[in-house]
Amino acid sequence: MYDVKSLKAEEFINHEEILETLEYAEKNKHNRELIEEILEKARPRKTARGTECRGLTHREASVLLACDIEEMTQKMYDLAREIKEAFYGNRIVMFAPLYLSNYCVNNCVYCPYHYKNKHITRKKLTQEEVAAEVIALQDLGHKRLAIEAGEDPVNNPIEYILECIDTIYKIKHKNGAIRRVNVNIAATTVENYHKLKEAQIGTYILFQETYHKESYLELHPQGPKHNYAYHTEAMDRAMDGGIDDVGLGVLFGLELYKYEFAGLLMHAEHLEAVHGVGPHTISVPRVKRADDIDPDVFDNSIDDDTFAKIIACIRIAVPYTGMIISTRENESCRDKVIGLGISQISGGSRTSVGGYAGYTPDVRPHDTEQFDVSDQRSLDEVVKWLMDLGYIPSFCTACYRAGRTGDRFMSLCKTGQIQNCCHPNALMTLKEYLEDYASDDTKRIGEELITRELVNIPNPTARAKATEYIENIHEGKRDFRF
Ligand code: SAM
Repeated sequence: MYDVKSLKAEEFINHEEILETLEYAEKNKHNRELIEEILEKARPRKTARGTECRGLTHREASVLLACDIEEMTQKMYDLAREIKEAFYGNRIVMFAPLYLSNYCVNNCVYCPYHYKNKHITRKKLTQEEVAAEVIALQDLGHKRLAIEAGEDPVNNPIEYILECIDTIYKIKHKNGAIRRVNVNIAATTVENYHKLKEAQIGTYILFQETYHKESYLELHPQGPKHNYAYHTEAMDRAMDGGIDDVGLGVLFGLELYKYEFAGLLMHAEHLEAVHGVGPHTISVPRVKRADDIDPDVFDNSIDDDTFAKIIACIRIAVPYTGMIISTRENESCRDKVIGLGISQISGGSRTSVGGYAGYTPDVRPHDTEQFDVSDQRSLDEVVKWLMDLGYIPSFCTACYRAGRTGDRFMSLCKTGQIQNCCHPNALMTLKEYLEDYASDDTKRIGEELITRELVNIPNPTARAKATEYIENIHEGKRDFRF
């Protein structure tokens, strides 16, 4: 039986409820009156507290996703842009993945790190190698990382992950610093989540891969990840362990996207109902070619238009949740979807273990790679590209460092204070990037953008402070934040 508050995977992600949702969506996909009503419900409203959005239930959002009326799709895109603009403005937060180890005891059929892959080079970074990677990432200008590792209790125990986090935070090279480490490791125990919290991680990210239990079991035939309930209930354990920023995701291509979409939103509703706070981020990866993985064997791949619609519908349904797109997507796809609700992107990424240190921007190692990177531009090129499109690339990590996580972040979002806080923080961290790492061209465009955008800070005191801090950064000081 479906129960949003249940702690059992099969009750909060209930197969029958998803099937009924899909049936309801299919039946109503041309019901213009209902669709207009749903769009109206989701529209941002000015209230005494600021701008607010009500979001949508998984059923309502599924109707939008099923609707194939061109004019309605356009309305969805317009609304998604409006919501993104209201809560995330024109800021895009930058990050990079850091692969620590590709040892893995699972046998995920879409991932080249599966233990049956005997020819892929297995590698685990030593602490010296982690330090070298971090220095290379700092030299690119990164301040925020997502660490990645296969699941292997012997090679990658929690102690190893914690030691790596400690090393990462300790490296201070020139003006560089990694100020936020997000963690993407396999489902684990409450005790281990507690240790990750103590190690001051940012978001704990775990992709569900698929919400369809039967497919999940087939796609993860061996290893601890085969346990559907343990994997699906991981975010509840993470929150019980004190982590209140969690990142959900589905690997699109494995199962029918409408099923996954409903499951993803049910998961978000569940976290909100049980823990009082929804997911901090949602990622939308698609299966990619990799070492011994041919993405064409998965018959549920989605085209760019469907992908864009999913992103727009997620933005409308969970307005306060950040949305992440990685370098799995190429420049033109990123261009198409970024305005529809994306708030974070990776840039200059390497998906191999030890892929940064010792390599020039045009050379990328493939031997330990998790998947082919489609967007192979350097971070500087991505930063410039974003600014050319009118976005502010942000290297901000302030919220979590100021304790604004979980519902405290959400309330900042809801009261519209984000414009007096995130906006100046984005400009100040961009200024650091321009001073320390940017090419001449990027620097010129960035300086113009900062001058243009400073006047958009509504509160005069915040505006004056931000202007002063930006001047201080030019003079050599670092790490200001609101
Ligand atoms: N090992 C961890 C786990 O079990 O969740 C997570 C780390 S894994 C390095 C990160 C994510 O990469 C996986 O959750 C999966 O969704 C994604 N991934 C794996 N193979 C992929 C492929 N061929 N193409 C695109 N993404 C892939």
